[in-house]
Amino acid sequence: MAADGRRNLNLLVLPFPAQGHISPSLAFSKFLASKGLNITILTTSHLTKSAKGSLCSSSINIQAISDGSEEDKDRKETPEEMLARFKRCVSQNLANFLDEMIESGSVARAIIYDSCLPWVLDIARGRGLLAASFFTQSCSVCAVYYHLKNGLLKFSDADRVVSMPALPRLETGELPVFPKVMDPNNTIMNFITGQFSNLEEVDWIFFNTFDKLEYQVIEWMSKRWPIKTIGPTISLSQTNEVISDQKNDHMISIFEPTDEEACIEWLDLKEANSVLYVSFGSVAALPKEQMEELAFGLIMSNCDFLWVVRSSEENKLPPDFISNVRDRGLIVKWCPQPRILAHPAVSCFMTHCGWNSFLEALSCGVPMMGMAQWGDQKTNAKFIEDVWNVGVRIPGDIKREELAKFVAEVVHGDKRKELKRNACKWKELVEEAVGKGGSSAKNVDDFVSLILGG
Ligand code: UDP
Repeated sequence: MAADGRRNLNLLVLPFPAQGHISPSLAFSKFLASKGLNITILTTSHLTKSAKGSLCSSSINIQAISDGSEEDKDRKETPEEMLARFKRCVSQNLANFLDEMIESGSVARAIIYDSCLPWVLDIARGRGLLAASFFTQSCSVCAVYYHLKNGLLKFSDADRVVSMPALPRLETGELPVFPKVMDPNNTIMNFITGQFSNLEEVDWIFFNTFDKLEYQVIEWMSKRWPIKTIGPTISLSQTNEVISDQKNDHMISIFEPTDEEACIEWLDLKEANSVLYVSFGSVAALPKEQMEELAFGLIMSNCDFLWVVRSSEENKLPPDFISNVRDRGLIVKWCPQPRILAHPAVSCFMTHCGWNSFLEALSCGVPMMGMAQWGDQKTNAKFIEDVWNVGVRIPGDIKREELAKFVAEVVHGDKRKELKRNACKWKELVEEAVGKGGSSAKNVDDFVSLILGG
């Protein structure tokens, strides 16, 4: 306790303000809080304004700092301008926040920041904090980024397949970046490869993965940096100790969920293993033609389905689709995905193969149909089908008749049996990793001891 009776903060957590980065940071924070750490998650003003779900949490304090998005908010920014403004404002306001904390006598011991924000390190160091960089994508994808950053991955238009150590051979279309982005002067490329800019100086490097999932590439990466696997964070956050500690906790969600209980009640009426859950995450926007083929394909498959169509995507649905579906399908704007995947009625997950969506499905033993759109989703989809054998890939240009057959086979047919067997094995390995003494649980315990040990 500080002299005035305030509890000293153990940890600050700074996620990048996108759903796929916030979800794992919050889940990790919940687990750390259940171990007795006093945590503040710093959100930025853009997120605080757009967040529709509750931002309050019983065990975790949530504070907002400005990212400058409230100034001149009608101006359309290029990605370059947006990233530059974000860095300028957040670094200044984070420094101010820490300085005020220090002046008031309440000092944090460490900060966990998203690996996309490597400039946080200098700010933290200048104020005596320990620092951890948190990678929210797969270790395999990050290994590809490492090769790109260091000029170790070169190929011409004629090359179809590339090889890298500790990774399967990847077709160029399965790489996590578009060829046009590979120019070292490209802003997106710099943002991606910047994650590796100062890793030699950080105190911890956390990955949201687990040892048995990516053992070869984790071993390869560990020869360069002392990385620690702490995932799947969603499963850490669902262990008994977290649940009993934080009964009334909420998600930090950028989108307002459709009535959560209505989704569960709808699933409750369905038979076990009968429903296809369809979601493409928080960012991916399918072309209108693809949405239409998917909509008609789902109807033709005769399978029940729960489909997340964000508000911005609704106008791509065929006219009258929602009313024609009747009780065969439920279309929602946003849902509590981890809870849906854990429902016994869910048979299979049609996913864009975002890393969190994949880990959430794996944790529940749910087979996947991958319709990757871009970026790391393409690499994840390759692994889901060929390395982990828990799903099949669907080509983006698939037509409705073929899609309907595909869905019926994976939701009810023989293919499902094989995928489900593998998914159940992976679920057990997840439980082993996050259970007592498991590889991820042990890495977190070591971290907690160091933080609390002073
Ligand atoms: N998600 C959710 N409700 C939805 C759709 C998605 O809570 O209706 C969550 C999902 O559980 C995951 C995150 O949004 O934690 C999406 O992250 P992911 O890495 O899968 O994809 P991204 O949105 O970053 O492309």
